[in-house]
Amino acid sequence: MIIWYIFLGEILGMACNCNGVCTRYRAKRLDNGGRYSKGQKRCQRCEIFIKWEGLWCPCCNYRLRTKPRNSKYKIKFQEEIILNGM
Ligand SMILES: [Zn+2]
Ligand SMILES: [Zn+2]
Repeated sequence: MIIWYIFLGEILGMACNCNGVCTRYRAKRLDNGGRYSKGQKRCQRCEIFIKWEGLWCPCCNYRLRTKPRNSKYKIKFQEEIILNGM
């Protein structure tokens, strides 16, 4: 099923969007912000951190980010942590 989803995602490309499945895997907020080091991954399309073993989002099939790219992203993550904590 997951394989099929990846295959479908490859073909459809941008056609796949968040359908809410990712919320089932929503990762807990961490106070120190070290989410990637705790194995949490970021889906940029769903705009959510999830606890997921695969490299692809179980929801939208977008490639998950496993580490911050630069300091600009880190600031964004901090903001999100604050938002999620509300
Ligand atoms: Zn989603
Ligand atoms: Zn996603």
